[in-house]
Amino acid sequence: MNMEHSPSPSVLITGASRGIGEAIARRLAADGFLPVLHGRNRARLEALAGELGGNANPPRILQFDVSNRDEARKTLLADIEAHGVYYGVVCNAGIAADNAFPAMTDEEWDSVLAVDLGGFYNVLRPLVLPMVQARRPGRVVTISSLSGQVGNRGQVNYSAAKAGVIGATKALAVELAKRRITVNCVAPGLIGTDMAAPEVMTHILPLIPAQRVGKPEEVAAAVAFLMREDAAYITRQVIAVNGGMS
Ligand code: NDP
Repeated sequence: MNMEHSPSPSVLITGASRGIGEAIARRLAADGFLPVLHGRNRARLEALAGELGGNANPPRILQFDVSNRDEARKTLLADIEAHGVYYGVVCNAGIAADNAFPAMTDEEWDSVLAVDLGGFYNVLRPLVLPMVQARRPGRVVTISSLSGQVGNRGQVNYSAAKAGVIGATKALAVELAKRRITVNCVAPGLIGTDMAAPEVMTHILPLIPAQRVGKPEEVAAAVAFLMREDAAYITRQVIAVNGGMS
């Protein structure tokens, strides 16, 4: 918990409506942060907000498509104008659209780049200057993927976008380090969510040294570690949560 932010430091989590983002929101709420829940599915976000805050104090909900630059900027600036700058931002929202490269469609390439890499710019560009101007410590955590570290068959689009996220994260970390804002990346391997199709799991399982799929909560634990006040000297890093897969 960061004592320069009171009473509860707020952390925006994109893609909090399900999967890894939902687990991150639950974990950060349990750790005493005020999650700001982002996604597109309002019903799911409202259900989660009700669970986390009760009727008295539900977390705020922000709804926009992370690939829509204008919508993202307007919504985020209005939220911080009304409620103050976030302590932390977790850029988690993402999609995959797998296909062998010779068969890949323009739409599969464009949409994955627009959401997974474009989302980095569209969400962080409006937020970083206000974070710097607040002159307080801050945290940015991006969610990449093992696919972005090693390159994965059928995921040329996704590997490109997720490798881009790693490069962008490291570069932003250098720019923000002296401002006491850390910028790190968490790179999950195969995690049991809607994104990981059952047939993919069966195929990949033998390649995972831990011999099992990861849990969203195990990714959330790494994010929660990076959010801590005493993680202040960890920046420009990629933390893999992948059961030893490479
Ligand atoms: P899910 O498909 O379960 O959830 C994706 C989340 O992202 C949802 O909350 C969804 O919101 C949101 N989202 C997707 N597209 C958009 C968009 N255009 N605008 C706004 N929100 C959007 O995925 P995971 O939880 O598995 O993945 C979370 C992150 O982890 C992603 O970045 C993914 O690439 C990464 N990852 C996942 C791995 C895995 O094995 N599961 C492995 C490695 C990385 P909504 O439901 O409201 O549409």
